[in-house]
Amino acid sequence: MSELRLTTTSVEETQAIAAAFAAVVQAGDLVLLAGDLGAGKTAFTKGLATALGVTEPVTSPTFTLAQVYKGRLTLNHLDVYRLEQMAEVVDLAIPELLEGNSVTVVEWGDVVAPALPANFMEIEFTFGEGFDDRVLTFRATGTAWTARSRALVEVFQRSQSAPC
Ligand code: ADP
Ligand code: MG
Repeated sequence: MSELRLTTTSVEETQAIAAAFAAVVQAGDLVLLAGDLGAGKTAFTKGLATALGVTEPVTSPTFTLAQVYKGRLTLNHLDVYRLEQMAEVVDLAIPELLEGNSVTVVEWGDVVAPALPANFMEIEFTFGEGFDDRVLTFRATGTAWTARSRALVEVFQRSQSAPC
């Protein structure tokens, strides 16, 4: 899988994609959500949280750097909305967060991180033609995702062909 592009037409569909994605995430994963405000990054995170068994409501981590939710895996949710936070997050927060039995999700805009770990999944959110259309582009970096690429494609195929 070099790149996988999925189109969604509703929040529910975006969250169904997130739930399918949850089936392949593992402890130690770093998932970067890129895209403009309102593109659906938090909506995706909520779908991922639910699928990981998180029962508390997921809110945007405005006042804290990372919000931590207990589920089947712990979900660390970061929102890097200020550019100056970037170095802090990449150098300090991410390495520490990746150590636990957890998956770390970082929302940010169209900014490039100075340095990232060897393995991560980037999901880029862009607006489609219709008001509720969004395009999600999955790009894996590093060998941690290589073995799971096929499984990922399969869960997405199942989720998209499942009857509503
Ligand atoms: P971000 O975190 O990227 O700033 P949010 O997830 O907070 O974006 O907001 C996305 C907004 O777009 C929500 O108001 C949601 O209801 C709306 N929306 C409409 N269609 C979609 C879709 N297909 N996927 C995700 N969100 C959608
Ligand atoms: Mg958000």
